[in-house]
Amino acid sequence: MEKKGYLSEIKSNTGLNVNRCYQCGKCSAGCAVAEEMDYPPSRLMRMLQTNNKENYGKILASETIWLCVSCQNCLTRCPMEIDIPRLMDYLRERAIKEKTINKKSKNILSFHKAFLDSVKYTGRLYEIGLVADYKMRTFHVLQDMAIAPKMFAKGKLPIIPENVKDKKQLHTIFKSSH
Ligand code: SF4
Ligand code: SF4
Repeated sequence: MEKKGYLSEIKSNTGLNVNRCYQCGKCSAGCAVAEEMDYPPSRLMRMLQTNNKENYGKILASETIWLCVSCQNCLTRCPMEIDIPRLMDYLRERAIKEKTINKKSKNILSFHKAFLDSVKYTGRLYEIGLVADYKMRTFHVLQDMAIAPKMFAKGKLPIIPENVKDKKQLHTIFKSSH
């Protein structure tokens, strides 16, 4: 990778200029999962700013990018309006492409893929499809089965998936992201 390779790649794919971050730390202070992360968001931003290939490799192999739940707290707190959730999405996609997925994050990745599959085929979240897809990927067949009847009873698990009308546009969006 060239010296400026990944910074300009991030910019062209997400529109984000990571050098705008001035390390105030508000994102990390407001992130509910920062303590579980190997690199909290502000640290991850600093590592990216070093423009160092080794640091980029550490980020792509980190748990941080998979633990981020895209809650947007960091974005709402950031004085520079840096869209960290968007950045995390991009880093996850890069990690998948470069096969640098953190070993401890494999189940999260399975969930991530099952979620995307659900959105890809219906345009919405189809809970039963998501659960079945996740269980097939992880072999956690019996996990959480006890709560299913209660969810059915409360109408939280619709049998028939709801589909968006404009599937063509949906396919275009997914095609353009690959
Ligand atoms: S979007 Fe991710 S990084 Fe930002 S606060 Fe939420 S979990 Fe933390
Ligand atoms: S809140 Fe924004 S400016 Fe402050 S450290 Fe986080 S990303 Fe950087």
